[in-house]
Amino acid sequence: MNIHEYQAKSLLRDYGAPVSDGRAVTKAEEAKTAAGELDGPLWVVKAQIHAGGRGKGHFKETDVGDKGGVRLAKSVEEAETEAKRMLGRTLVTHQTGPAGKQVNRIYIEDGSDIDRELYLALLVDRVTSRISFVCSTEGGMDIEEVAASTPEKILSFSVDPATGYQGFHGRRIAFMLGLEGKQVKQCVQLMGILYKLFVDKDCEMLEINPLIVTPAGDLKCLDAKMGFDSNALYRHPDIAALRDETEEDPKELAASKYDLNYIALDGEIGCMVNGAGLAMATMDIIKLYGAEPANFLDVGGGATKEKVTEAFKIITSDDNVKGILVNIFGGIMRCDIIADGVVQAVKEVGLQVPLVVRLEGTNVEQGKKIINESGLNVIAADDLSDAADKIVKAVKG
Ligand code: GDP
Ligand code: MG
Repeated sequence: MNIHEYQAKSLLRDYGAPVSDGRAVTKAEEAKTAAGELDGPLWVVKAQIHAGGRGKGHFKETDVGDKGGVRLAKSVEEAETEAKRMLGRTLVTHQTGPAGKQVNRIYIEDGSDIDRELYLALLVDRVTSRISFVCSTEGGMDIEEVAASTPEKILSFSVDPATGYQGFHGRRIAFMLGLEGKQVKQCVQLMGILYKLFVDKDCEMLEINPLIVTPAGDLKCLDAKMGFDSNALYRHPDIAALRDETEEDPKELAASKYDLNYIALDGEIGCMVNGAGLAMATMDIIKLYGAEPANFLDVGGGATKEKVTEAFKIITSDDNVKGILVNIFGGIMRCDIIADGVVQAVKEVGLQVPLVVRLEGTNVEQGKKIINESGLNVIAADDLSDAADKIVKAVKG
């Protein structure tokens, strides 16, 4: 689960990390008052969406100007004007995709003067199974770009959980970033704060880009992106409360309410599968036969008729779906129960696109009988290749 910059900065502030004072507003009328509560004489007006690259982004609407989703203002009036322009508009960045994201909230912050922009992130490194620091002198820009063109400018190392964070970790980062004097001490302290926050809250990712050095020589977190391990949210009600459902894919949101593991994709073939591994294999084989999957969906081992119906509703709510492939291996689950669920779901939801069903495992004969006698326009398949072949042919003609 991801949170907004203003929420991440509030957490950083609580833990004692240096961030500017700021106010989040959802209405243009509140912007002037909010800006007036800050010191000035420079304000930053920032679109709050769950995507980076806002500064270099652009709005779909033409009357917003061409300055992107991070704008400097020299008066409270200017801050109000910028907030008004951005609220309710659609910001497109390289992370949102061409559809962009609607800006429902603005963060107004005390503007900072910048001497240097640095990059810093903490993440869970899957190779070492440890928390890793990533830092670079090339802050404020795409780290992917830095990694591709000048990888030597990135330092990355993991922390042994037995010792936890130590001063030498922070000094290593400070020297890599070319920090001097009091900045080294600040860096060591800040990295300790970030590491503690990361562990305390079960983070998956914490990115500060840019981490700046001010003209006075102090470190400050100018941007903040935080993601949390969804499987650990049950022990962090304070973090779970920060969830902004308007930022999530409506199909994925509906799926999460029914405990379905669903990820929306761009293709034309909807998939309903039990088991994550089989779901991955199904997506692969759809590609092999020349089409693209519209989603990943694992209905789980104990799928009920209600779950199957809900899964169908979610799959068919995607306008890109031109055909559906149901691929179920009845192990613990019985094929006749699945077949019943599929038939009832199709009757309830209605079906405008071809449907291929491949069943295998316990009670497979009864399952196939139910499908064949249902009177529905369902194409039965014998195995995975046959199923992929049939759905791709049905869709592509
Ligand atoms: P992002 O584009 O979504 O990553 O948003 P950021 O918060 O990182 O802002 C983008 C860029 O705007 C930064 O890299 C800075 O160059 C600039 N910026 C952000 N806040 C300030 C500020 O307080 N003062 C100044 N001068 N520039 C800022
Ligand atoms: Mg940034």
